[in-house]
Amino acid sequence: MKPLTSRQVILASRPIGAPQASDFSINEKLLNAPEAGEILLRTIYLSLDPYMRGRMNAVTSYAPYVQTGEVMVGGTVSVVEASNSPDFTIGDFVVGYTGWQTHALHDGTDLRKLDPGQAPISTALGVLGMPGLTAYAGLLDIGQPKAGDTVVVSAATGAVGSVVGQIARISGCRVIGIAGAQEKCRYAVDELGYHACVSHHSSDLKSQLAEACPDGVDVYFENVGGSVFDAVFDHLNVAARMTVCGMISHYNETARSDEPDRLPRVMRAILTRRLKIQGIIVFDYSHREPDFLADVGRWIRNGELRYREDIVDGIDNAVSAFQGLFTGKNFGKLLIRVSDDPTLG
Ligand code: NDP
Repeated sequence: MKPLTSRQVILASRPIGAPQASDFSINEKLLNAPEAGEILLRTIYLSLDPYMRGRMNAVTSYAPYVQTGEVMVGGTVSVVEASNSPDFTIGDFVVGYTGWQTHALHDGTDLRKLDPGQAPISTALGVLGMPGLTAYAGLLDIGQPKAGDTVVVSAATGAVGSVVGQIARISGCRVIGIAGAQEKCRYAVDELGYHACVSHHSSDLKSQLAEACPDGVDVYFENVGGSVFDAVFDHLNVAARMTVCGMISHYNETARSDEPDRLPRVMRAILTRRLKIQGIIVFDYSHREPDFLADVGRWIRNGELRYREDIVDGIDNAVSAFQGLFTGKNFGKLLIRVSDDPTLG
């Protein structure tokens, strides 16, 4: 194999507030042939996810942060281009975490092979991947919806939210979405089968929610936080469940001084309304993966569950596409097509 270069997106400096293009740089790294036990991967799809914003801060959380000068972390679907490993053959498709780069040498650890005959390989990063599992476990295991319940989900048309809302609908619930653009709200009702969807851009979100949820809210799947949380919280019924999955409206915050102090109000409501509020970190739910893949795979095949991908071409566009996650520019699971997908013919 001739040496080749991997084009990489590097975290050059830690963003303050919203990430800027200047916080990243492009590097060309020369890769040699794989050594014993190694494989060479060509990235086809790179997943862009809100959690990556947290990895840009030097703050210890549930996972290590990215060092400046390092390649940005990220889930990828790749094809094996050269193999010096008995476990992989040229042409195998794999899902793993090889980051924001066009090629990677890898020892095979934590890679999962994909069968393109089963589902489009891109879905391993979305509806049949980490965001889908988050939705499945976060709604069913934590939210515990019952037929007839009213379920509210924010970021309702995104990678996680769209699966949450549809599983709730399949479970016999009344589903209310909260999204940004009117086009997204229409899609939630017309394509995803939600009973209603309200825009968080509206100045009277709270009263619109009251109208859409005449019997209150039994399950709230929280992806956003901030004013969206405020609007939903007062509608939670006695014994309601809330899955805290994400708080994207806070991820670029630099100071919290103008935020209202929600704690006394929230604690009083937890007490008097006997609320159950639980966070989810998807890594705790790998034991649910077989059920998740079986159920969601079946719902997709029989047309009960739909998914939408927002695909942007080229690794050089990763930063601008990532910025768009925080302004609602993406419509569906955000992916970078880093190189040609040979399964599409
Ligand atoms: P999405 O595909 O939903 O994209 C993000 C969306 O969030 C945007 O399109 C936008 O939708 C909405 N949004 C962004 N900024 C704001 C804001 N300031 N106010 C209101 N809405 C906003 O992303 P994902 O589905 O991948 O992620 C959704 C949430 O789930 C995130 O909070 C993420 O961190 C979390 N998550 C948590 C996991 C876990 O294990 N806990 C795992 C995976 C995801 P719109 O245009 O509708 O406003």
